[in-house]
Amino acid sequence: MRLLLVEDEKPLAKVLKKGLEEQGFTVELSFDGEDGLFLAQNYAFDVILLDIMLPNINGLELLQTLRKSGVETPVLMVTAKREMHDKVTGLESGADDYISKPFDFPEVVARIRSAIRRSKGKPMPVVEIADLAIDTNTRVAMRAGQALGLSSKEYDYLEYLALNHQRVVSRNELLDHLYSASYDFDSNIIDVYISNLRRKVDRGFDRKLIHTLRGAGYRLANLGEKA
Ligand code: CA
Repeated sequence: MRLLLVEDEKPLAKVLKKGLEEQGFTVELSFDGEDGLFLAQNYAFDVILLDIMLPNINGLELLQTLRKSGVETPVLMVTAKREMHDKVTGLESGADDYISKPFDFPEVVARIRSAIRRSKGKPMPVVEIADLAIDTNTRVAMRAGQALGLSSKEYDYLEYLALNHQRVVSRNELLDHLYSASYDFDSNIIDVYISNLRRKVDRGFDRKLIHTLRGAGYRLANLGEKA
């Protein structure tokens, strides 16, 4: 999942970025409102963490502009205690949730994951597709009760496909959501990960859950099941 963090306190932003990356997020950092707005409008993100007091454009203006331009990416406003009155304005501007400074990091991560899941219509932490269960809190995937032993990046692929399982996910979309914009990729990397996932998720099972749609992309689904 790719996350945009707009926060002008650079030491805090960098600590947060590192912690979130350890939790499997791909994090883009922006230190001012104007740049943050540009990134939010022009790149694909699964969630945005938005500070309120920012240079150039403040967080509330940024959010209002973003929503007016039709971007529906979930936004979590970052508020200091003294900015509590901004919460109402933020909600009215289209914020999805709040994170209070100082941070309780596990709570921050839980709120981010919850906002992403809700935006994909999956409020519960465990996403189930046939006998595959993906626990988005613990980042553990099981099939038929057995842990799949995925690497962190393999898990990221599976989680993204699971949260979007109603549709086909293109290769470009996987690159956009699972890698940093500055990542110098070889697109064969996708074939490698999908092939690993197939081996770990589907090998030994009659019912295959990972499907390739030639020229379109991939879909994680129990296609034999009536919708
Ligand atoms: Ca600030």
